[in-house]
Amino acid sequence: MENIYRVNMTDMTVKQEDVPEEWALLGGRGLTSTIVAAEVLPTCHPLGPNNKLVFAPGILTGTPSVQSGRLSAGGKSPLTEGINESNSGGTSAQLLARLGIKALIIEGQPKGDTWFNLHVNKDGIAIREETELVGKNNFAVIEAVESRLGKSTGILTIGIAGELRMLSANISVKDPDSKIRSHGRGGLGAVMGSKKIKFITIDAEGAPGVKLADPDKFKVAAKTFAKALLDHPVSGQALPTYGTNVLVNIINEAGGLPTRNFTSGQYAAHDKISGETMRDTIVARGGKPKHGCHAGCIIQCSQVYPDRNGGYLSSGFEYETIWGLGADCCIDDLDIIAKADNIMDDIGVDSIETAVMFGVAMEAGIIPFGDGAGVLRLLTDEIGKGTPLGRILGNGAGSVGRAYGITRVPIVKNQSIPAYDPRAIKGIGVTYATSTMGADHTAGYAIATNILNCGGYLDPLKKEGQVELSRNLQIATTAIDSTGMCIFVAFPALDIPECLPALTDMIGARFGVAFAVDDFIALGKKILKLEHEFNIKAGFNKAHDRLPEFFTYESIAPHNAVWDFTDEEIDEFWNF
Ligand code: SF4
Repeated sequence: MENIYRVNMTDMTVKQEDVPEEWALLGGRGLTSTIVAAEVLPTCHPLGPNNKLVFAPGILTGTPSVQSGRLSAGGKSPLTEGINESNSGGTSAQLLARLGIKALIIEGQPKGDTWFNLHVNKDGIAIREETELVGKNNFAVIEAVESRLGKSTGILTIGIAGELRMLSANISVKDPDSKIRSHGRGGLGAVMGSKKIKFITIDAEGAPGVKLADPDKFKVAAKTFAKALLDHPVSGQALPTYGTNVLVNIINEAGGLPTRNFTSGQYAAHDKISGETMRDTIVARGGKPKHGCHAGCIIQCSQVYPDRNGGYLSSGFEYETIWGLGADCCIDDLDIIAKADNIMDDIGVDSIETAVMFGVAMEAGIIPFGDGAGVLRLLTDEIGKGTPLGRILGNGAGSVGRAYGITRVPIVKNQSIPAYDPRAIKGIGVTYATSTMGADHTAGYAIATNILNCGGYLDPLKKEGQVELSRNLQIATTAIDSTGMCIFVAFPALDIPECLPALTDMIGARFGVAFAVDDFIALGKKILKLEHEFNIKAGFNKAHDRLPEFFTYESIAPHNAVWDFTDEEIDEFWNF
């Protein structure tokens, strides 16, 4: 029996509710966005009492399926001021699913300065005052909570950035190694901070687990699905070998690696920060070149990156972070980037927003391009201490651009554009422009078909077919984000015919219903449209579905490409 829990931080009450029938087949992004659209006033202040913070494990989370352990967090984003869903690995999703918690809705806001933690277990949810760990960063919180409650406890926490309600603040999730995964992008850590919740702990002792309506059918489909993941060259070979950072050399070669605050598409020192160099360094230092962010991950794109002495430096060291501080900020030293990644995990800021912000800050002259020591100093002494400059930096690239009068600020809906230049890879530009989340590569990863030849090939420098590609990918991704699967299942789903039907068969077998690929696509369309409608009610219009103007008049080497879509062409996106 699954339940919804509603925690009200205004009157300090907890209610257990039945799952409404119309939510029964939903999970992950499908459920968080449905709840946010139904219950959050679109025009509310994201940090005020009328916003809600919703957590939901995916439809398949807690089942024996590989790759299904992601947790969605949703609410109105303080960064974009539109709807937000952010999903993360770590251990919490599977624990919540095993406890039968379909969604946790946190609403209201306490008056006064008292902080709280929430403790979730089989008996319900307790709201407790918290004093000891307020003002502490994430690694200290995890260490202290594990010594209070034990290593098996799931933890969702905010660092100092969330406490100070910075717009780049993450909600951090403990992973199987007691390190950190993140609900990043969109600033939901600030929403958790606005509700004065420092951390949430989850104890699944005595949990009933997830029941399958048809275990035999589920088992057959799960086996087919897992085989497809291992058979595909991207999910079966490239990601486990080099992690997502396999992309540095590939995107550089394509001329789409934004460099020096988006002024070139290639970085001369790309080899020094590449996935190949990263793997060699990890192996030479005795680290882990592949690693899963939750139990049941068989792709294992993550890794543990050690320092020169073999001590821990970073994990989950992603291409987008390495690109941002590497090529975009011209820091050609993986050790410095790893150190910065570790600090960002600790204080709890999004590593894409923060890296792109540093590119803008370098252009503004706050520190020079290539100044790795300056980045570490600004992270610890300004953002980490919440100084006035630190708050400007911690509010992201748009904040720095406005404060310093910079025109080359790569943002859409106030969220930073990640690691693929839209002038040289046009499909991803359509996704940045139209995504309900602001610039977000994961919303419709057109790199798959523009660069990696997954799901066919579309010339990245030509406009033809890109709107349709991005639309199809965004619909499918919205549905994948609802399952609890990580986004990398999309590669085999695009290329191996048995993969997507096996995924939908698992959903059918989980609930004992007929659920086909058409139902999956219908789910993606419905949720994407609902998110778009929320954004329109929040005040967005077509003018918000645009890339920054500089992309139209500044060309980048080596292709000398500009962003050349007309408004009418982009607006075609929503015709479905
Ligand atoms: S492939 Fe990577 S992101 Fe996906 S579950 Fe595994 S470690 Fe996490």
